Amino acid sequence: MSSTVSITKVFTFNSAHSLPGHPGNCKNIHGHTYHLEVTIRGPVNPDTGMVMDFYDLKNLVKENIIRKLDHCYLNDILPCVPTVENIAVWVSRALQDKLPLYKVKLWETPSSCVEVYAGDV
Ligand SMILES: [Zn+2]
Repeated sequence: MSSTVSITKVFTFNSAHSLPGHPGNCKNIHGHTYHLEVTIRGPVNPDTGMVMDFYDLKNLVKENIIRKLDHCYLNDILPCVPTVENIAVWVSRALQDKLPLYKVKLWETPSSCVEVYAGDV
């Protein structure tokens, strides 16, 4: 019987956004260096010893997420206000049909992050 394991790959991207209606400075266009943690969960394949090859996980997230968000204006991409919460939900929805997704954790600043579990979006 194989064990169930979570594995995580970490990414970085730079994007701009503005939050219309925000009472503070976030209503103005500004940028962040986002840190994205994508965690998948599944059985360890007894033949490969892996849940999924990190190389394949990296390429899938780069193709479906990073390529679309890096150096972009998030207000033009997301169908909603691009808060870090909504960005994380958008990422989860974009990945959940392609991976045994467990969790997306998105850091907007070194002290501010959100977590979204795949079953919640
Ligand atoms: Zn911001």
